[in-house]
Amino acid sequence: MKANEVLNHHHLKRTSCREGIIDVVMSSDEALSEAEIRDRLQGCYDRTTFYRSFKTLEENKIIHKIIVDNNLVKYAFDSSALSSLGHAHFHCVECNSVRCLNTVALEKASLPQDYEYAQAEILIRGTCNKCKKQHSKP
Ligand SMILES: [Zn+2]
Ligand SMILES: [Zn+2]
Repeated sequence: MKANEVLNHHHLKRTSCREGIIDVVMSSDEALSEAEIRDRLQGCYDRTTFYRSFKTLEENKIIHKIIVDNNLVKYAFDSSALSSLGHAHFHCVECNSVRCLNTVALEKASLPQDYEYAQAEILIRGTCNKCKKQHSKP
């Protein structure tokens, strides 16, 4: 899917800033921070335009937020192939990279009576393949 198709699919107006943000998050296999997305964006947008476009995409669940801790918040493209229960994320404790794990199945938790389920967030911490490779180098 291309950025303009994503916007059409969500019945959103096409703007170059929105399309640019989608292109950036879609082409990255790692989740990106707001600053990283802004840095990679082709074309110049003022703060307000960028912020508004960003919020629109987040509200429409085109991109989703991954909160690792207070200092580390990343965003990734929300693939519609992902289960409605949500999906797990992987945080590399060495390089601080974050990515979506579409292969980890989440099960709906059984909650105490009269509790309502909204969403689950699972964060797996460890070492990513790139960092592991670094270790095995002589
Ligand atoms: Zn790493
Ligand atoms: Zn994700």
